[in-house]
Amino acid sequence: MADANAPFRIRGETGEWEVVVGLEVHAQITASKAKLFSGAATAFGAEPNTQVSLVDAAMPGMLPVPNRECIRQAVRTGMALDAKINKWSRFDRKNYFYADLPQGYQISQLYHPLVGEGEVTVLTDEKDESSAKNIGIERIHVEQDAGKLMHDQHPTMSYVDLNRSGVALMEIVSRPDMRSPAEAGAYLKKLRSILRYVGSCDGNMDEGSMRADVNVSVRKPGPNGEETPFGTRTETKNVNSVRFVMAVVEHEAKRQVELIESGGAVAQETRLFDPDKGVTRSLRSKEDAHDYRYFPDPDLLPLELDDAFLEECRGSLPELPDDKRKRYEGLGITPYNASVLTAEVETARWFDALLEAGVEPKQGANWVVAELFGALNRRGESIDASPVSPTQAAELLKLVADGTISGTIAKQVFEIMLESGEGAAAIVESRGLKQTSDTGAIDAEIDKILAANADKVAEYKAGKQQLFGFFVGQTMKAMQGKANPQLVNERLRTKLS
Ligand code: ADP
Ligand code: MG
Repeated sequence: MADANAPFRIRGETGEWEVVVGLEVHAQITASKAKLFSGAATAFGAEPNTQVSLVDAAMPGMLPVPNRECIRQAVRTGMALDAKINKWSRFDRKNYFYADLPQGYQISQLYHPLVGEGEVTVLTDEKDESSAKNIGIERIHVEQDAGKLMHDQHPTMSYVDLNRSGVALMEIVSRPDMRSPAEAGAYLKKLRSILRYVGSCDGNMDEGSMRADVNVSVRKPGPNGEETPFGTRTETKNVNSVRFVMAVVEHEAKRQVELIESGGAVAQETRLFDPDKGVTRSLRSKEDAHDYRYFPDPDLLPLELDDAFLEECRGSLPELPDDKRKRYEGLGITPYNASVLTAEVETARWFDALLEAGVEPKQGANWVVAELFGALNRRGESIDASPVSPTQAAELLKLVADGTISGTIAKQVFEIMLESGEGAAAIVESRGLKQTSDTGAIDAEIDKILAANADKVAEYKAGKQQLFGFFVGQTMKAMQGKANPQLVNERLRTKLS
């Protein structure tokens, strides 16, 4: 069997190569309905240029005013990533020309970012806690987004939409700590999950609320697997799904290995990913920070955060996925179920409500992961839109726990709940589905079955033990699943002995 923890290697003509990955994730602060330095709206899908204030359009004399809520959300995010919060930070201008940037510069933070070093723990195999690995965060800075150019709207014209101009982004820069496509994918998923728990960013990659710049380099590991110097990296811009990030790492690493082995050298450059062809293409040679002539923005005072503000930020954080997962495991839930139940904030909220309704944790976890997820998948519904609420599910699970119905009948009752919206107890009552512990009725069915299967009875008595299950099955079937299974077992043992 392949070792899940074996290092990921690319096999080249000259031996094995290691891939090194660092991600720069741009996450829109969707928690704020206004932009970073103006009051203009940020809703997705608005008509072009309908959410542009004079500040966003960089009209002469306009001045930026920092949006407190954006800063607050970035601080909460930093805290959730166990990062150092800098009580003093400052905005800088990053100067460049592009038609989607009316100011001629982006307001960002180079020298003194709002958030410093942090960390994210990822599991590349969610069933296996030994696959846990910490990925370092270098910094999080707050910056403005640019507008968007729309080409080929008319055969000879391009248009600009400034709706995104000035939208607040957090740029979350990782350390070059990832070593495989799977680790890069797991990191992005985990980061997305944490942001969605915190509520700062909705993580909607289809709508551009989150996108990643993927930095990739390759190197030959030392003869005993020891660290060797990093190779030259390329940066593939604006990758907008977990799957694409993994594809970029995979493809870029192979391309670089082939290039180096055929005598070439990797150029430090910016590339673009073509999802249709699954390849990256060179866009431009990489610019350095000094090319942008960064300098402190004279229109903005430094940000100074006081203790009361920081306390409020910390106090407002919810229980985060890692803590929740540990709490669930402490309740006896399997590591796999705990990981599935905490991966998405909506699932965790639903499950917490189920626990609050008094359901036994292990029973509840098994039921949600097997039955509820199964049903939602079949129906193409998200847990938010689940036709059965946690309170309704708790009613069903209690009927199983107290022996009113069997697990088999519970599945039928659940199906009826999904279709009819009726409550579990009412369904059991009206359809006569209660489990029976009527020994007389059970004995009567057992007698009939043993009489009809005299040959099997003889075989069983001659030592074919596995036939016991057959008799149980037949009895349950004859009783339409309503017999108390424990009693059926007991009675069969007595009668067959
Ligand atoms: P820039 O802002 O110019 O893109 P940074 O030094 O801030 O450059 O690094 C950006 C990202 O590149 C970080 O996520 C970092 O982890 C990653 N990175 C740096 N060096 C390498 C390397 N040799 N291989 C892969 N990723 C790297
Ligand atoms: Mg970069």
